Amino acid sequence: MTVFICCFLTWTLMFLLLGSMGFVLREGVQQLRRLHQIPCADCEFFTNDYRLKCTVNPYVACTEDAIGCSDFEPKTCFANSCQQYCSRARKLPTETSQINPSVPPLATGIRI
Ligand code: SF4
Repeated sequence: MTVFICCFLTWTLMFLLLGSMGFVLREGVQQLRRLHQIPCADCEFFTNDYRLKCTVNPYVACTEDAIGCSDFEPKTCFANSCQQYCSRARKLPTETSQINPSVPPLATGIRI
């Protein structure tokens, strides 16, 4: 009888553990899907600066309240958060072809 009770408790604990793990996993996936709906990273007004994340709605930027933001504007190449990438992309092909990517920057003597 003791063996039966121990087996029953063990299986009960196993089912509870697996059920709890499944619940936590499902909740985590739902939360991740919700966070990926935040549009700020693709918005023109997003500054990518922790001091002022958004110039229009700084208190709701990068939070769940920003989902469905009425001030959202698709990011263009002139956005503040896009300047580093765009300055590289806007270089003329002759400027970029002079840099040999296989040679480290210090060895070429080029200062960026
Ligand atoms: S305007 Fe809205 S969507 Fe754009 S960065 Fe600010 S809070 Fe986010």
